[in-house]
Amino acid sequence: MKAITVEPKKPGTARYEDFPEPDEREGSVLVEAVAVGVCGTDVEIVEGKYGWAPPGKTRLVLGHESLGRVIDPGLNSSLKKGDLVVGIVRRPDPVPCANCAVGEWDMCTNGQYTERGIKEIHGFMSQRWRIEPEYAIKVDASLGLLGVLLEPMTVITKALEQVFIIGQRAYWEPRVVLVTGAGPIGLLAALRLSVRNFEVHVLDRAESGPKPQLVRDLGATYHTGSVLDLDFNPDVIVECTGVGSVIADCIQKLDSGGIICLTGVGAGGAAGKVVADMAAAAVLKNNVIFGSVNANKRHWYRAGENLKQADRNWLRRLITRCEKPENFQQALERQPDDIKVVIQFSEI
Ligand SMILES: [Zn+2]
Repeated sequence: MKAITVEPKKPGTARYEDFPEPDEREGSVLVEAVAVGVCGTDVEIVEGKYGWAPPGKTRLVLGHESLGRVIDPGLNSSLKKGDLVVGIVRRPDPVPCANCAVGEWDMCTNGQYTERGIKEIHGFMSQRWRIEPEYAIKVDASLGLLGVLLEPMTVITKALEQVFIIGQRAYWEPRVVLVTGAGPIGLLAALRLSVRNFEVHVLDRAESGPKPQLVRDLGATYHTGSVLDLDFNPDVIVECTGVGSVIADCIQKLDSGGIICLTGVGAGGAAGKVVADMAAAAVLKNNVIFGSVNANKRHWYRAGENLKQADRNWLRRLITRCEKPENFQQALERQPDDIKVVIQFSEI
């Protein structure tokens, strides 16, 4: 079969190449790839900044935003041939730490977790892949290609769950929420917040393209420019740009008793290294300002429900480009009106 692979930490090594069939030890469920979403983490891995090959190997199959069709459900599985599935990304560490021991691998405290397509386990950008039945999430068949949005939805499902859990520390009636960054994560955050009767604002640097109307179609307000120029103080900010200066502005703009959820690690921007370090620590260690990374099975299940309930026509507009696997390099290059780019391995 063919797969998109990379030698981690070495830029310029990504290839679409012949690759052995998936190892049966990777799971008893055999899946035919339908599509894999591309995100900033994939770009970082291809640029040689991040990523780890499986132990004893030099190359890693890329891709963690999966969607596939079951070819062989194997034994001990409630799945059927033809079911659409998405693979959970993270696996608990082998020790395990207390969080991994109770299935909260998203909160892993020793950092020895593994992640498909990122850290020591092959990803999903191969024509066929295998998965353990307990890590395969069945996708509602009517979602079709939109199932590829499930992984980004899990990120926001966890992040918002955490916001409202933290809110319980005091009497709290949040009313005004701001989402910074109108990429896939930001737009999915706005979608989930808009169904909860908040006054939702989204800020992004794009002044044209599909983003402003996508936001307005949720009944939310679209802004460009600086967070500091907004004429309100949000009770909740969901920060999805990961830009240091935007994070610094958000900290300054947040209303008293408010909560900022960081989903990106704060690289770049005028605020410099201090904010970047603080944001990286917050996101990657789930510290309070607070940061949120990854998701556990509860979030994956709930994200599937959230996706099923969402307006299909609105969701469809988030997938702005489908590329063939042989053109994966184009898929990794950001174009101005891109929201979510997917690599499509087979028809649906
Ligand atoms: Zn752990």
